[in-house]
Amino acid sequence: MPDPIQRLADELGDAFTAEPSALQRARTDRSGWVSDSAPSGIVMARGIDDVQAALRIAAEHRMPVVPRGAATGLAGGAAAVHGELVVDVSGMDRILQIAPDDELAVVEPGVINADLDAALAPHGLWFAPDPASKDISTIGGNIATNAGGLLCAKYGVTREAVLGLKVVLAGGRVLRTGHRTVKGVTGYDLTSLFVGSEGTLGVIVEATVRTLPRPSGAPTTLVGFFSGVRQAAAASAAITAARLRPALCELLDAASLEAITAYLGEDGGLVHEPIGGGASGASLIVQFDDADAGARAAEAAALVRGAGGTVRLSSDVEEAERLLALRRAFHPALAAQGEVLIEDVAVPRSRLADMFEQIERIEREYEVRIPTVAHAADGNLHPNFVHRGPEVPDVIWRAAGDLFTTALRLGGTLTGEHGVGVLKRRWLREELGDDSYDLQREVKAVFDPFGILNPGKVFA
Ligand SMILES: Cc1cc2nc3c(=O)[nH]c(=O)nc-3n(C[C@H](O)[C@H](O)[C@H](O)COP(=O)(O)OP(=O)(O)OC[C@H]3O[C@@H](n4cnc5c(N)ncnc54)[C@H](O)[C@@H]3O)c2cc1C
Repeated sequence: MPDPIQRLADELGDAFTAEPSALQRARTDRSGWVSDSAPSGIVMARGIDDVQAALRIAAEHRMPVVPRGAATGLAGGAAAVHGELVVDVSGMDRILQIAPDDELAVVEPGVINADLDAALAPHGLWFAPDPASKDISTIGGNIATNAGGLLCAKYGVTREAVLGLKVVLAGGRVLRTGHRTVKGVTGYDLTSLFVGSEGTLGVIVEATVRTLPRPSGAPTTLVGFFSGVRQAAAASAAITAARLRPALCELLDAASLEAITAYLGEDGGLVHEPIGGGASGASLIVQFDDADAGARAAEAAALVRGAGGTVRLSSDVEEAERLLALRRAFHPALAAQGEVLIEDVAVPRSRLADMFEQIERIEREYEVRIPTVAHAADGNLHPNFVHRGPEVPDVIWRAAGDLFTTALRLGGTLTGEHGVGVLKRRWLREELGDDSYDLQREVKAVFDPFGILNPGKVFA
């Protein structure tokens, strides 16, 4: 049998490349993790047939396959090494159907999240999953990582939006899961199994996604300014406990506010400077989008004041957009300072203040700065480490390790939305426990008997 590279080149023609600069790019994603060698080839899939051919040839040669979308992942999941074949589906980017009556859409995996949302808008529909990377990440990647975002507090994570999938399995067989109905409980829920599977079970080649009516009212947005992060976390916990159900509730600590203000200049002051001057030690952006948004925001404002904060309220749509743009500017603001390791742990919401206290301890113990933002109403924190690249210094890995085990000790999880990839596989058994870890490996083996689907990712 000819070698797999020759067969791929012969059977896939232009869709196959071993061009050195493309191979080099496939060594990494946006996590900062870079594999120690380049993969052996890339299939730039044009359609399901290309993915099937790639997986058939790969299985016959026991060649590992790394599925890849837009490579914005933050866990190293789409990064490949020598001997591996990258199956890049970012070019499969057609919206196949929008069905307004059924409030769903059928898409290829490479469709950019924000492009689908823009196409839904004229139909009065909305794609709720909203990772901060929605302008640059694919729906296939969002599903494979079960991506979250700012609006998860009320609208849930990507899983809530996935009704059905078409997946190419190892060997090239096409599997259909799920349904076009809102309800449906026949058989095991294989759709959910693929959501968040990080390319370890198959390559998602089509998705049927649920859409929601587009929110039409003007939201009311509250910014709370606090002397410190514990007060801000306490205010967020009080808003949750009062069942006010904000659409989003974002917490920014002092270092994040400083970074945003330095990056954006004057504009950053919107979230950093309380009326009356000074600098906030932590800010909370809370948005309500219900018909009674104003009343809910007023109740939340009382809770913010009760936690020691001062408040600015606005029902101006443009100001709301500017505030969220400021929050979304956090990643670029840190990236302007150096290389960034973006972390992602979650704790029960009642333990958010405790987690912030532990982050302060870790900063002192390891003598590192950890600017942190949080999707506070989800208990999901993004502690960040800025360093001079390209390698993440050992002290940062030790501090991050402490962060992960601390989150677990507080009843939390290693990753709220970015996934395990290569970066957190060391700690996976600790979170899952032996029985669950071993069973999950057995589940993978059912789908991937030769162990060729994204090996070394998720499981060590
Ligand atoms: C600035 C910035 C902000 C971000 N903000 C958020 C955020 O708010 N919330 C959040 O959850 N994430 C966030 N991310 C992380 C990232 O954007 C998400 O994880 C996103 O879902 C990845 O999509 P992608 O298309 O880039 O996937 P990739 O990075 O290409 O792949 C990610 C993983 O999914 C697998 N995969 C990709 N496509 C497929 C497919 N079709 N079939 C099977 N497996 C596949 C890959 O093998 C890999 O394991 C952010 C990243 C950046 C750079």
